[in-house]
Amino acid sequence: MRVDYRGGGRYAPSPSGDLHVGNLRTALLAWMFARSTGRTFRMRIEDLDRVAAGSAQRQLADLAELGLEWDPPIMWQTQRLTNYDHAISELQDRGLTYNCYCTRREILDAPSAPHGPAGAYPGTCRNLTTVAERAHIDAGRRPAIRLRSDVTEFTVSDALAGRYTGTVDDFVLRRGDGIPAYNLAVVIDDNAQAVDQVVRGDDLLSSAPRQSYLATMLGLAPPTYAHVPMVLNTEHKRLAKRDGAVTLSDLNAAGVDTPHVLSSIATSLNLADPDEMVTAELMLARFVPATLPSEPWILDPADLLRH
Ligand code: GLU
Repeated sequence: MRVDYRGGGRYAPSPSGDLHVGNLRTALLAWMFARSTGRTFRMRIEDLDRVAAGSAQRQLADLAELGLEWDPPIMWQTQRLTNYDHAISELQDRGLTYNCYCTRREILDAPSAPHGPAGAYPGTCRNLTTVAERAHIDAGRRPAIRLRSDVTEFTVSDALAGRYTGTVDDFVLRRGDGIPAYNLAVVIDDNAQAVDQVVRGDDLLSSAPRQSYLATMLGLAPPTYAHVPMVLNTEHKRLAKRDGAVTLSDLNAAGVDTPHVLSSIATSLNLADPDEMVTAELMLARFVPATLPSEPWILDPADLLRH
């Protein structure tokens, strides 16, 4: 029997609140990138941290209302703890991890490693003596687990940024509070969902080299990436709830119906003329990655209300 393997794309929101127009726009892009290339499209709820009650369900409902559809099942990270444990154990068994007792403050205050880039973990706990480790344990510190990286940078391929080289340090695999780190969970889950195309906001471009490197350490093929420009407010800061009516329910309550929200997003992506009503399907039919704007969408939320 022929196994019909198809790679996939995905959208992986953190259920920490309602999605705003920037998130909705990124989700639409991820869906269009995937479907326009014949890929599956998966949903993953990144609920290891910062969960607001009911928010995952509202996020899914909002995406469905925009006309996005996805291939089941939806993956929930809190149901996958044993998968993360296995990956960490495997790396531990191969000597590719170490315990780190540093506090956030200590890392900020530490001089950076001689050849390390700014912001990279300086390696304080990389070669801790047993005595020093004992002292940390006796002081009641709970260690994070870090990857023992043997590179300082790694190159990924991005549909918008081209070949992008960024820092790889000894990043955290499991936090001191026991929660698997985002960078680990992403790699394990993208593989489990057969994701070979990662589309997300360009605030995560600098994380891609770490994730890609970790994939290769685990014998997994890194995905291709498309880090898409974000939506910024008029101060050119990342759009947030405090900027006004920016979620679908806020906008609906303020009299802007979902088709108008979709129209604004489509216009910002050069997939509709101003005020032209479009469906997600029509956007998909028109979608050509090369014509995407390469600059962020600077949005005054008040403009969305002027329909
Ligand atoms: N859960 C992350 C977020 O909402 C996205 C992770 C990813 O796309 O890799 O920012």
